[in-house]
Amino acid sequence: MAVLHEKLQTIYEEVAQRNPGEKEFHQAVIEVLDSLGPVVDKHPDYADGAIIRRLCEPERQIIFRVPWADDSGTTQINRGFRVEFNSALGPFKGGLRFHPSVYLGIVKFLGFEQIFKNSLTGLPIGGGKGGSDFDPKGRSDAEVMRFCQSFMTELYRHIGEYTDVPAGDTGVGTREIGYLFGQYKRITNRYESGVLTGKGLTWGGSQVRTEATGYGTVFFLNEMLKAASDTVEGKRVVVSGSGNVAIYAIEQIHELGGIVVACSDSSGYIVDEKGIDVGLLKEIKEVQRGRIADYVEARAGAARFVEGGSVWEVPCDIAVPCATQNEINGDESGYLIKNGCRFVAEGANMPCSPDAIKNFADAGVIFAPGKAANAGGVATSALEMQQNASRDSWTFVDTEKRLEEIMRRIHNRVLSTAEEYGQPGNYVAGANIAGFIRVADAMLALGLV
Ligand code: NDP
Repeated sequence: MAVLHEKLQTIYEEVAQRNPGEKEFHQAVIEVLDSLGPVVDKHPDYADGAIIRRLCEPERQIIFRVPWADDSGTTQINRGFRVEFNSALGPFKGGLRFHPSVYLGIVKFLGFEQIFKNSLTGLPIGGGKGGSDFDPKGRSDAEVMRFCQSFMTELYRHIGEYTDVPAGDTGVGTREIGYLFGQYKRITNRYESGVLTGKGLTWGGSQVRTEATGYGTVFFLNEMLKAASDTVEGKRVVVSGSGNVAIYAIEQIHELGGIVVACSDSSGYIVDEKGIDVGLLKEIKEVQRGRIADYVEARAGAARFVEGGSVWEVPCDIAVPCATQNEINGDESGYLIKNGCRFVAEGANMPCSPDAIKNFADAGVIFAPGKAANAGGVATSALEMQQNASRDSWTFVDTEKRLEEIMRRIHNRVLSTAEEYGQPGNYVAGANIAGFIRVADAMLALGLV
């Protein structure tokens, strides 16, 4: 475990004791606290206002029953969550995750990270996160719809365009947002577009929202390479996952001249030395909702599938983890370092464990944490809220330009903050400190609330 500044150590112990068993939440908190020592020394007022202790305690946590009937008429019961973590900068904002692994500790880690990520965008959004242990995999459209309707039948009373604005995350895409929005509209009798983001383009969605997290991660990666006087062009890249973030990260890497040779899902990984065919991947994953192994069948011998293995064993110059938390641990970071990987940009939330991050730092691998690198998704959600509020819609080109500019700004702010606090080139410290200061200042200004 990291050695923390003595004031921060007490806060961490309190978090661990008040939130027993929530190991992902503890990990997210310690990662931020580990960066804040120099800030506490420079700004004793943050400690006096108990800003950090308050930040670690969500403003509100909601847990609810989600009953629904499957296609055979059997009653199913899931658990729903919404953790409204911090609204100092704006309405709570953050996605909903539907995955069997979801429990309060996962939602709290994601919500905590979201506070700093949203702050880094420079946009007026607070942090929150939600979801359910419902598994949409293998469920019919009708089952997913009934689940979403039941979920929203409770959630609707807690959200609103000025209160809390959920979006998608793992297991929640445009289909689920559609069913959720439909039920919200039905219950409230309000066409309140700004209550959810990630909507379809014909009913209030924003251009580029679907692509935003993946594209944004690669725009950030591009800035990292530029800062190191290098370029994405010609680089061999491995991306994990094959969901929303992964697909659009691959598309944008190819746009910049990099070659993504491997990607994965929870059943294994594929290697395609000529570069992943994104059109085919989209067809399999977005249209057919199939498995990654189907790609190999369609490529007739040009690609191979490795069942159950680690995609991080495939040699690469750049790694972009876009699947799930803690997918790169000590061993996986070891494979990457041994094979000469030089850059890692997190598309997923917290995919690298503390051990892996330390190994990267020791080996001189340039590493960017998700709260900075994948902030393009939520930034574009905030752009969707802006368009909804002004009853306007912007073109793809215009929105993409704004996203690229936001990612450049975040990158530069992270690096300049790292420099200011005596840790030049440290993206982890820069992101945590820059994200923290904006929220802390707002909390101080708003008084003890
Ligand atoms: P999706 O559900 O679209 O895709 C997730 C992908 O990761 C799937 O291919 C899934 O495979 C794979 N995966 C999940 N768990 C594992 C595992 N244990 N081992 C290997 N592969 C796994 O989710 P998103 O692409 O939306 O999200 C991915 C990550 O990015 C998450 O950490 C999310 O929090 C983060 N993120 C997402 C944003 C967004 O806008 N969507 C915004 C910011 C961050 P399978 O289908 O087999 O489960």
